[in-house]
Amino acid sequence: MLTGKTDYVAEIARLFAAEGLAPHTGPLPGGGWGTHAWLAVAGRDQERAQALFQEHQDSMVRREGLPVCNTAADFDAPETECPACQAKFATAGTDRCPSCGLRFR
Ligand SMILES: [Zn+2]
Repeated sequence: MLTGKTDYVAEIARLFAAEGLAPHTGPLPGGGWGTHAWLAVAGRDQERAQALFQEHQDSMVRREGLPVCNTAADFDAPETECPACQAKFATAGTDRCPSCGLRFR
């Protein structure tokens, strides 16, 4: 299930419908239809919906001229890469990227 501002949820619902899925949407309790909503698809469509959603997110990032980077920092390794700025840094004793300041813990 996806939740978000109503306009964004409607955008994703249109994307899914255009790709042959049958999304269901509704208002979030207490939020009112004009503010936030939920979106769900049938279980059999979950993988396809997640792939379409990720593709949509990646295209938004590319449209802004930014690189698509779906990585996570590995703090079990002696050195890792920041998913935000791609700086490499030693993980021992730190919980922030020394380059951009992204906090990990
Ligand atoms: Zn960083």
